[in-house]
Amino acid sequence: MSTHLSHGLPTPDDVRAAARRIAGHAHRTPVLSSRLVDEQLGARVVFKCENLQRTGAFKFRGAFNALSRFTPEQRRAGVVAFSSGNHAQAVSLAAAELGIPATIVMPYDAPAAKVAATKAYGGEVVRYDRYTEDRVAIGRELARTRGLTLLPPYDHPDIIAGQGTAALELFEEVGTLDALFVPVGGAGLLCGTTLAARALSPGCELHGVEPEAGDDVRRSLREGRIVRIDTPETLADGAQTQFMGELPFGVLSQDPPRILTATDAELVDAMHTFATYLKLVVEPTGCLGLAGLRAAAGRLRGRRVGVIVSGGNIDLERYAGLLRDR
Ligand SMILES: *Cc1c(COP(=O)(O)O)cnc(C)c1O
Repeated sequence: MSTHLSHGLPTPDDVRAAARRIAGHAHRTPVLSSRLVDEQLGARVVFKCENLQRTGAFKFRGAFNALSRFTPEQRRAGVVAFSSGNHAQAVSLAAAELGIPATIVMPYDAPAAKVAATKAYGGEVVRYDRYTEDRVAIGRELARTRGLTLLPPYDHPDIIAGQGTAALELFEEVGTLDALFVPVGGAGLLCGTTLAARALSPGCELHGVEPEAGDDVRRSLREGRIVRIDTPETLADGAQTQFMGELPFGVLSQDPPRILTATDAELVDAMHTFATYLKLVVEPTGCLGLAGLRAAAGRLRGRRVGVIVSGGNIDLERYAGLLRDR
């Protein structure tokens, strides 16, 4: 590996530093297991429950870590983020706790519950039309005219380091693992997890799991360049990214993880398993890890396996409907 390629990429030490920064602010989420799930899968499985993280997803980790590194000038002026999902809520709450004004750019058709939560945490919501307006341009314009710092959802070293703290805690609690399954959108979580594994469980076989409708990360790592796709149609709304981040691409290319895919039906099956055996409400994107493990379980018999359960934010009517129509 040349120093040229690795220059500027986040490191395992950055994940450890992030863990110190978020201590006492983010939850140390529980690690759960189920004898019956172990029997079904033929492996010993531990679930790291980020659906029980503050704001309902691991994204609070990265947001808090990144915002706590802002300079006094950046803190005074404020942060801007564009997201209709979990990153919006995470930035809104983390900024409020750090006394930083937050502006969140959200589409008019974002779920009302998500807009309400983002506002309730203290952020100012700016709406836009996702069919006629460009959210990146709006975010950049706000950053320029109001002096705000733009905080992206995955392609940022402090975000990646923060997301890696979930796996760091998992390895601290259960020791090394033979394999770990991680949901993948822009691959910030998988990148941070990879760094944590390098520090605490170097032999762990990493698996990223993305929606079958959008397997751009698998193609990107295979082709050696970042592949761009149209917004994939999938239940996994937290993984509807069109391309992975450059920093995750740089880190993951050094020693590519296995990338698996899951269909919507497999995600709903996993959602059902979480509710039945672990008593957990998990959103479709948060089910990617378990769905991937189920597909790979044949070659992991008797092994110690981890799954990152990345989030639990789903409208309950929709949740009930998906389980009913399964
Ligand atoms: C954002 C998100 C992901 C994907 O994370 P990336 O860092 O973009 O890969 C997975 N699950 C949930 C619940 C998310 O909110």
